[in-house]
Amino acid sequence: MAPTVRRAVSLKTLNSFGVEARAERLVELGAAADVPAALELVREHPPALVLGGGSNLLLTRDPPGTVLRVMLGGRRLLAETGDDVLVEAAAGENWHAFVGWTLAQGLGGLENLSLIPGSVGASPVQNVGAYGVEVRDCFDSLDAVSLRDGAARRFDASDCAFGYRDSVFKRPGGSQWLITAVRFRLSRAPRLKLDYGELREELRALGVASPGARDVADAVCAIRRRKLPDPASIGNAGSFFKNPVVDRARADRLRAANPGMPVYPGTCATDAKLSAAWMIERCGWKGYRDGDAGVHERHALVLVNHGNASGAQILALAERIRESVRQRFGVELEREPVVV
Ligand SMILES: Cc1cc2nc3c(=O)[nH]c(=O)nc-3n(C[C@H](O)[C@H](O)[C@H](O)COP(=O)(O)OP(=O)(O)OC[C@H]3O[C@@H](n4cnc5c(N)ncnc54)[C@H](O)[C@@H]3O)c2cc1C
Repeated sequence: MAPTVRRAVSLKTLNSFGVEARAERLVELGAAADVPAALELVREHPPALVLGGGSNLLLTRDPPGTVLRVMLGGRRLLAETGDDVLVEAAAGENWHAFVGWTLAQGLGGLENLSLIPGSVGASPVQNVGAYGVEVRDCFDSLDAVSLRDGAARRFDASDCAFGYRDSVFKRPGGSQWLITAVRFRLSRAPRLKLDYGELREELRALGVASPGARDVADAVCAIRRRKLPDPASIGNAGSFFKNPVVDRARADRLRAANPGMPVYPGTCATDAKLSAAWMIERCGWKGYRDGDAGVHERHALVLVNHGNASGAQILALAERIRESVRQRFGVELEREPVVV
């Protein structure tokens, strides 16, 4: 079968920053049967940029070669053992709709990740996380094909080498893979993760004394709708920088030198996570605007496009922010979205 190919397509509505960029060749991958023909087009017109929902991308120029828009749909229960259920979703499924579907099946595990924009296929790419849960906590395996030679491969969790907002797919060489389907291990009797005080407070405010997975999802959605800027109203890609992970002794020294600096538990006992938002705000960037590129007025971590900023202008602003945090705190900020 042949995928749909469109020429000279504006990507402005296909990335949540809403920046203008043009795809010379946009291949819409709507069915698994289209994959071989799509790979052939990629081989004829390299390189390939795989596009999901465009909510973790900053396009700073027209992507060369072929843009492969993943629109593969489908989700199903694969196996059930006691309370444990294995589910699979195609890469093009909308993430939030998929989480809603799992909850409708009576399955918990992904509730804290409700309302994260984007596709199922991108969820392992940066090991999406929110409110104390990451995709790796429920991840089973994924199917991918190599854009280089069409080889099919199954990745389990150790192959993905998940890290904080990171995986093998975000590292050098990782972009050669087209993820086509992802499987998750969910539960009919999930152990809810309510470590975030904000989540517990929201459940209390909603009058829920003994929550189930759906209550947690409702609380997460309520917090996110209240707090996070909606890309439909103002272009953004969520958090632009990761919270830096440093060794604990360094975090203690930074806190001693900067009273009030938040320090969170890190990825292990010997490190700690710093608040990128706090440092950016202390450097005076919150609400800053340079033309149409800016920093959100309530979220120092969220870079925004007020209308017609280019990706290059947003990237230039991000670099100025990075430099000022480096100068003032000696801390290196790492970008979260993928820059093209
Ligand atoms: C308002 C807002 C809030 C957000 N909140 C969070 C949050 O709480 N936690 C969090 O972790 N992230 C968050 N994000 C970031 C984003 O939603 C996630 O990273 C999401 O997984 C991106 O999905 P996508 O389909 O839009 O990916 P895209 O932006 O299309 O792509 C991102 C990267 O993944 C690659 N990719 C996409 N699909 C595939 C595929 N099928 N195969 C191989 N590679 C692929 C792309 O090539 C690119 O490198 C937020 C973004 C916004 C705009």
